[in-house]
Amino acid sequence: MHAERQLPRGVRGVQGEAHAQIRLTVPESTAVRAFLTDSHVALAARVTEYAAQELVPLPEPPDDAAARAQARELLGRLGQAGWFAPIGDLDLRAACLVREALAAASPLADVVFALQALGTVPILLAGDRALQSRWVPAALAGRAMASFALTEPEAGSDAAAIATTARRDGAGYILSGTKTFISNAGIADFYTVFASTDPAQGNKGISAFVVAADAPGLTFVRPLVLSA
Ligand SMILES: Cc1cc2nc3c(=O)[nH]c(=O)nc-3n(C[C@H](O)[C@H](O)[C@H](O)COP(=O)(O)OP(=O)(O)OC[C@H]3O[C@@H](n4cnc5c(N)ncnc54)[C@H](O)[C@@H]3O)c2cc1C
Repeated sequence: MHAERQLPRGVRGVQGEAHAQIRLTVPESTAVRAFLTDSHVALAARVTEYAAQELVPLPEPPDDAAARAQARELLGRLGQAGWFAPIGDLDLRAACLVREALAAASPLADVVFALQALGTVPILLAGDRALQSRWVPAALAGRAMASFALTEPEAGSDAAAIATTARRDGAGYILSGTKTFISNAGIADFYTVFASTDPAQGNKGISAFVVAADAPGLTFVRPLVLSA
């Protein structure tokens, strides 16, 4: 059943079988219509049309390296097309509608969107003006790839158990620790990294820091190739 060609690509789960004939339909929003504005409904139609035309025909990447290259390409395309705007607007309903359409056409495009939001929203919520102007316009335009670095080898669901520390050093901080399972690691332009400034305070001692990919001391060890 999962090989049926008329199924959306993300449901088919079969590598290398992208077909432009897949027909995407605008997500059925009747049940949640009361929570949407007219502009949300119009957005869902526009992004579905875009996904059908621009994303469905894309080849499925055959391996991890190709997926990384396609993720970077998708970043630029989605940014140029304006689909990251709901992130900048902090319009989470619009973000859900965009994700639903992207995911039906290209799970990778959806992941690119999700990571762009995860890495950028903390800057929008809590970053100062300098940090925001350095990263947010580039992230929303698809020129800078975001990443969200919370998980550690010994801290997954129990996020408060992270061991990465942040120590004040002049105007900045020195971060020390190891992260794992970080999507976009090695291809991101900036990492929103969670670290503790005061381990004695547990979850109350954790803050988020933006680390540029070229920051001294930041090392990408290797990609984790996962199988479904
Ligand atoms: C494809 C992929 C991409 C990811 N991308 C990122 C990323 O970009 N950034 C990032 O920071 N992290 C990322 N992660 C990490 C992900 O968020 C963690 O895997 C998640 O937090 C769970 O942590 P864990 O794998 O250590 O599992 P654990 O925390 O060890 O949990 C293992 C199992 O135990 C269950 N469990 C845990 N605690 C309890 C409890 N108290 N009661 C009952 N059940 C419990 C869990 O539900 C789970 O089923 C990614 C993971 C994957 C698989």
